[in-house]
Amino acid sequence: MRIPDPRVQPPGFIRGLFPGATWRYSPENPEVYLTFDDGPVPEATPWVLEILEKEDCKATFFCVGENVVRHNTIYRRIIEEGHTTGNHTYNHLQGLKTTEREYTANVEKASEVIDSRLFRPPHGLMTLSQYRQLETRYNMVLWDIVSRDYHPEVSPDKICRNVIDYIRNGSVITFHDSVKTIQKLKIALPLIIKMLKDSGYLPVAIPDIRTSCIPLHADRPVNLSGKA
Ligand SMILES: [Zn+2]
Repeated sequence: MRIPDPRVQPPGFIRGLFPGATWRYSPENPEVYLTFDDGPVPEATPWVLEILEKEDCKATFFCVGENVVRHNTIYRRIIEEGHTTGNHTYNHLQGLKTTEREYTANVEKASEVIDSRLFRPPHGLMTLSQYRQLETRYNMVLWDIVSRDYHPEVSPDKICRNVIDYIRNGSVITFHDSVKTIQKLKIALPLIIKMLKDSGYLPVAIPDIRTSCIPLHADRPVNLSGKA
């Protein structure tokens, strides 16, 4: 029997750290959710959009605010082509190295240019107090499978296997539309999409449920103690 790789499919105790977050959608339906983090960038995102269009798939892009400002035409193209976007902070901050006030302010700054109620923390990491502040305003989306495309030792073949070995109904799958990953994705992504379709899976975008917007700190003071 295959021993599951916790670096690819997070085990239950990791998922329990952020209990209200979405790691996987309904196991009842053969829908799967391709997600792309860290863009938009001209070196990678247009190519990803082209393959998605060619394959008639929708996906979700967790964007970095400063990239949205720099490459706004690509950001608008993502939306115009029917995909959804999510907030991935303004400067790709690592939560554990950032104060709660700085982190939430950075997310809010990103929300001025990314109109979405979806949020994914860079590196999948944030403190519990950051999480609790943000979960009142955002649908937190982590992942069921991370392709590990960013890792220098993970080849296109391994990216394919990471997805194919762990895919199941409702899987949220993480890739990166970045300079670092694009050459590998050009090989792996078409194969992955073909495999998903051949196996009966339907790649769809994560719905961005636009709830009414409450200013982040309007209802309670900022908690700087680090305690909930
Ligand atoms: Zn990221």
